[in-house]
Amino acid sequence: MPRAQEKLSHACILSAASMDEAMEKANALAMAAVCSGSEPRPCGQCRDCRKAAAHIHPDIITIRRQEDAQGRPRREITVDQIRALSADALVLPNEAECKVYILRDADRMNLAAQNAALKLLEEPPRSVRFFLCVTNAELLLPTVRSRCTGLYDGRGEAELDGESAKRADDYLKTVAAGDRGALLRWCSDNEGIDGRAAVAFNDAVAARLTDMLSGVWPSQGLNRQQLLELGRLNRTCADYLRVNTGVKHIFGLLAVDSPLNGSKDNK
Ligand SMILES: [Zn+2]
Repeated sequence: MPRAQEKLSHACILSAASMDEAMEKANALAMAAVCSGSEPRPCGQCRDCRKAAAHIHPDIITIRRQEDAQGRPRREITVDQIRALSADALVLPNEAECKVYILRDADRMNLAAQNAALKLLEEPPRSVRFFLCVTNAELLLPTVRSRCTGLYDGRGEAELDGESAKRADDYLKTVAAGDRGALLRWCSDNEGIDGRAAVAFNDAVAARLTDMLSGVWPSQGLNRQQLLELGRLNRTCADYLRVNTGVKHIFGLLAVDSPLNGSKDNK
């Protein structure tokens, strides 16, 4: 299981209201992935960052729909494109420590392409990262979705108010501090917020976790495994919130199931 989970971290779905927004996020995360400067990444200064900013980094590869004879993008990303990607992914990075594939319009992969992608996501070559940019994640097969970690939702971040962001940071800080008692107190202090605020909080946690996993936000000492577990817990909470589960129940879940730092009850 831990092995499989480690593999999961290689792919991330970036969902936003517009493709430009998703691509902007993907490019920022790709820059962080190839950055050879010091933390926090991307440093914006190193050779890799500068090449990424100029869209000329050889280890950041963008896959997009091919064009027809009139220069218009075709309807779908084809299986041949994904096969070519799979072959290319086996070749080691040129300059950076990893290779990054950005799939523009990943939700336009046809069924055959998605099945080919699934194979790749199940057994990703070492040092390869995937960012699947979508405006409608529902068009991806559930099996593809389940092999990706983050689900950055641009809409969530756009509406993200300072209060939710602060609450998300407080929660993650408390988890990182590794004191279950403190987490229980924090949860009971916050369980009185309304459903809307709870959704905004949960979205803010999702955005933070994605940034932490990709290295664009300091991870506060939380390790990769914990970040992945927090991501799963976050998605469970999102599912509950969608069906109007009580906010108290959500915070109860966070209090009990959050994987604490350096603690014996770290599951
Ligand atoms: Zn850099």
